[in-house]
Amino acid sequence: MVKTVRRGDKTLFVCEICGLAYKEKEWADKCKSWCREHEGSCNPEAAGHAEPPGT
Ligand SMILES: [Zn+2]
Repeated sequence: MVKTVRRGDKTLFVCEICGLAYKEKEWADKCKSWCREHEGSCNPEAAGHAEPPGT
C-alpha cells in the first residue's frame, strides 16, 4: 500500500521505499514497484512526476 500525506490542501501519495511524493497514486504505485525491484535507483520516469520536497 502507498502512504498518503497531507501537504497544505493537497493529499500526496508517497512511495514508502524511496520517500518520493506524488500527486497521482498511479505514479507512487509505479515508483514503489520499481523501487522494490531496483533498490537504490529511482525510476527516472516516475521521479519526473514527483513533487518537490516540502518546505
Ligand atoms: Zn520510490
